[in-house]
Amino acid sequence: TGVLPVFVDEVAATPAPRVSTAATLEADRVSAWFGQRKVLDRVSLDIPAGRVTALIGPSGCGKSTFLRILNRMHELVPSAQLAGEVRLDGQDIYDPERRLTDARKAIGMVFQKPNPFPAMSIADNVLAGLKITGTKIARPDREALIEESLTRAGLWNEVKDRLKQPGSALSGGQQQRLCIARSLAVRPRVLLMDEPCSALDPTSTRVVEETIGEIAADVTIVIVTHNMQQAQRVSDQCAFFLAAQGTPGVIVEHGPTDVVFENPQDQRTSDYVNGRF
Ligand code: ADP
Ligand code: MG
Repeated sequence: TGVLPVFVDEVAATPAPRVSTAATLEADRVSAWFGQRKVLDRVSLDIPAGRVTALIGPSGCGKSTFLRILNRMHELVPSAQLAGEVRLDGQDIYDPERRLTDARKAIGMVFQKPNPFPAMSIADNVLAGLKITGTKIARPDREALIEESLTRAGLWNEVKDRLKQPGSALSGGQQQRLCIARSLAVRPRVLLMDEPCSALDPTSTRVVEETIGEIAADVTIVIVTHNMQQAQRVSDQCAFFLAAQGTPGVIVEHGPTDVVFENPQDQRTSDYVNGRF
């Protein structure tokens, strides 16, 4: 057989490394109150770029509140008060000089209950986030963005022949992937997911987990989950939140997911991940 004249150095030099748009998030001593009631106490967490971070812990310990603080969504609750800092690639997202829409564009959110606009077409649902965040896109580029976003969300093949149907025509699992596509169309640098699979059947859950694995290189993921197997399947690092009776939520332990699950340093972490409360 013939040997091709390949120059090893050239082969090694290509292809050029792809530039990831994933960003780091740092929560620095974040405390939160609803009115007089303190619900988070000096929570600090470094969220590395291009990785999946899972937030776990019992109901009511402040996971959703913390997640919302990471993209200023808690500001929709008038009684919410905040102390501490959140930095996106080192820049304070609460800096008064920065616009709210900059944070929202860079940091997308997916909720537990799929919430596509039911009467809007599948295609328009994908583009809806652009309108909400004031992101402009030239008309000729729209179709490509719709295909790209739906493909990244693992939904393209199922909907490519019916893009004009309403969002409500889809199953629950498809609706959730449509919501993921809607977030991805804005090309966020971080995607926050609050129990995104809690309302889904096991098959849809698997597809969403695969999607998370595929997009994580380009989009930093923070996912709240009550499913310990899911946390182990999808996450690189894990933070365990807890609010002891009557006290605000804190992070008891955080670290690489295999350490948190297999060799937890705190007895309460061990009890929680092993289903003892
Ligand atoms: P988790 O997501 O871990 O279940 P949450 O962040 O939803 O916890 O809630 C943390 C605490 O804050 C709970 O005690 C909850 O009752 C309270 N809380 C959440 N949202 C609000 C709100 N909009 N107004 C007042 N209290 C709230
Ligand atoms: Mg919650």
